[in-house]
Amino acid sequence: MQNVLVFCGSSTGKDPVYAEQARALGAALARKGYTLIYGGGSVGLMGVLADAALAQGGRVVGVITEHLLAKEVCHTGLSELHVVPTMHERKVLMAQLSDAVVALAGGYGTLDELFELATLGQLGHDRRPLGILNTLGFYDHLLRHLDHLAAEGFLRREHRQMLIVEEEINALIDLMEDYESDPVTPKWL
Ligand code: AMP
Repeated sequence: MQNVLVFCGSSTGKDPVYAEQARALGAALARKGYTLIYGGGSVGLMGVLADAALAQGGRVVGVITEHLLAKEVCHTGLSELHVVPTMHERKVLMAQLSDAVVALAGGYGTLDELFELATLGQLGHDRRPLGILNTLGFYDHLLRHLDHLAAEGFLRREHRQMLIVEEEINALIDLMEDYESDPVTPKWL
């Protein structure tokens, strides 16, 4: 684990604790010497996360689309910025540049990015650790729904267990560092 891809909201959410956790994660990753890869935004939790990592002297790499760049929601102080034509290419490049993922609180964009990599993981196309920082139990409903998918026979328990969920940042990073992907479970019997 060297380059950690973080997905998070382009909004800050209502409770200030979401921004506090984004700030703490950015600082922790930088202090541990990890490069932060993220969507390149200056807004919401994304901006807070990147600012915190930069403030600790960390290396921060953004991957943004031409469209978002034109809308001026791009961070201008990053160590490196990649500009790509489409959201699809952006997800591909962010995945290529990184070897671990953390999802913080967010909306559709965050879920889309997380579940794309979970989908690749269950097919064995991707073996990186997928962490969820479950601030204030933000993901509890979704995780219960994933349990429902497993109970109803649409998701293997092993693939449900692929997601590493923690409320505390250092505990999450420790689990991700120790993660070994399950090489055996196919999606279908
Ligand atoms: P959302 O969770 O819907 O707020 O979307 C956040 C995710 O979508 C981030 O991880 C980004 O990759 C992408 N995204 C959405 N809005 C922006 C923005 N203004 N600047 C950069 N990336 C964004």
